Amino acid sequence: MIALLTGCSGAEPPRAQAEVPSPDSLSSVRLDAANGDTVRPNSDQPVAASVSVAGDSASANRAPNEYGRIPIVEYHLVEAEDGTYKVSRERFRAELDTLYARGYRPIALGEMLDKKIELARGHSPVLFIFDDASPSQFRYIERNGKLEIDPSSALGIWLDFAKDKPDWRNRGAFCLLSGAEAGRSFFGNKGIEGQKSEWRFAKLRQLDSMGFELCNHTLWHARLDKYPDAFVQEQIARGELAIDSAISGYKVRGFALPLGMWPKNRPLAWAGSWTDPKTQRVSKYNYDAVFEVAGGPARSPYDPKFNPRSLPRIPLGKNMPLFPTLRVLEKEGPSGRYVSDGDISTVSGQQPTP
Ligand SMILES: [Zn+2]
Repeated sequence: MIALLTGCSGAEPPRAQAEVPSPDSLSSVRLDAANGDTVRPNSDQPVAASVSVAGDSASANRAPNEYGRIPIVEYHLVEAEDGTYKVSRERFRAELDTLYARGYRPIALGEMLDKKIELARGHSPVLFIFDDASPSQFRYIERNGKLEIDPSSALGIWLDFAKDKPDWRNRGAFCLLSGAEAGRSFFGNKGIEGQKSEWRFAKLRQLDSMGFELCNHTLWHARLDKYPDAFVQEQIARGELAIDSAISGYKVRGFALPLGMWPKNRPLAWAGSWTDPKTQRVSKYNYDAVFEVAGGPARSPYDPKFNPRSLPRIPLGKNMPLFPTLRVLEKEGPSGRYVSDGDISTVSGQQPTP
């Protein structure tokens, strides 16, 4: 077994090929476009059916604060125990419980970017981001010839948690690797953790149809600060091409920097292009959002200083708890938590001083 990719902990992912793979070696990880011609599931997911006053009294009494901060929680592995960039399954479930009890509800990246945060009055948004596309996040098990979401994977835990909570929608983004080893290729391949390579595209389509978003995290998690511009763009463009192979025409809006490292030429993190040397086909990418690896709660999109191309996150793992952030968010004013006024047409709360 290959040493496991340690997510954003500082290590490079293991690779069989040389440091800079030749185009031919990369072609082996290019996913087959022939499978990418399915009709995309309807992306107009229904928003919350009701945006009336939240049921719990604490939320109902919370003063609207729509210039406040939004936690973007960042998960990597969800396994048996906490570790570096790893949380236990029990902890993941407990953090969902905690967020729910404190009046947080998941939103989509697109809702944040488009200023369409539609929550009940008194509720607060939380943006879930899952990095690295490991089977621990989304694993299938085969039962009687049918594929089921493993209830012990993060997605399985999420769905079980959400099943009796209509105001906990399937929202959040999975920042994907498509060509990394150790099973970090669209949630597992080559039999790693029982995951078959041919299940990969189905997983992306299922996430999309459930209401989650797909985000790019490069082809195999290269440290972008170490490479020339052309290589940076190839890593990013090929990551997106693989997503497009799974869901043709999918509009990727977010990109997570591997290890939080910016390319030397920073704008290449959100816009660039790559020309396939074999076909001369040009692939362009352009992202509205770039995720840092840390940095605390994010500014509200109504805050004039909101910068979607440098979105801070709250990484979770051993010695990386959620509670301190939630505590900090309990203060009042623009640096406290975003609290919805329940009306998407108005922005309520104290404006941050410029
Ligand atoms: Zn990562």
